[in-house]
Amino acid sequence: MDQNEALAILKPHLKQERYDHTVRVMETAIQLAGVYGVDEKKAEIAAIFHDYAKYRPTEEMKKWITSTYLPKDLLHYHHELWHGPVGALLVEREVGITDVEVLDSIHYHTTGRTHMTPLDKVIFLADYIEPGRKFPGIDDVREAAQVSLDYGCWMATKNTIAFLMSKNQPIYPDTFYAYNALTKRKN
Ligand code: GDP
Ligand code: FE
Ligand code: FE
Ligand code: FE
Repeated sequence: MDQNEALAILKPHLKQERYDHTVRVMETAIQLAGVYGVDEKKAEIAAIFHDYAKYRPTEEMKKWITSTYLPKDLLHYHHELWHGPVGALLVEREVGITDVEVLDSIHYHTTGRTHMTPLDKVIFLADYIEPGRKFPGIDDVREAAQVSLDYGCWMATKNTIAFLMSKNQPIYPDTFYAYNALTKRKN
């Protein structure tokens, strides 16, 4: 599937601002993939579809989690975390993408996971640092992303955990697993 074809499939599923974010994630992911020796074509497709399920109704996402292989513990966490796992499922079913590495990087793009693949890291980090993002501490993460993929992802997980804790929010276990695994690798 080429880039224009993939973007045309995606477009009706998103609002304009989310579509624009996706194009920036795609450009950032292709750049990071080039720097870190990751398959640029897989990075492009995964980035294009990473937020595919972002606007599915919460009740529909809940049904997909309940009725498929998706982890049930998601239901105990904020519904904002559901669009990654549900997106991977729907991108396979509705778009026909079968590449497991691509599907996994979509699944885990919000939380990360232990033993993230290089493609997982590219999508996770591109989503965090795309030029439209304005998180506190974002410039440190952008610099870290140019030092190493592990260092950039580590800092993104660290910032996310610190941000969620400052808001007294629960943190999904995969986010901690990602942080711990990256802490050992970042140097
Ligand atoms: P987006 O879809 O492009 O907006 O970005 P993400 O897929 O990364 O999801 C965004 C939201 O999920 C952000 O508001 C994060 O703070 C939040 N988030 C990420 N990890 C966790 C977590 O472990 N627990 C909770 N509750 N929220 C999280
Ligand atoms: Fe997302
Ligand atoms: Fe993210
Ligand atoms: Fe995103």
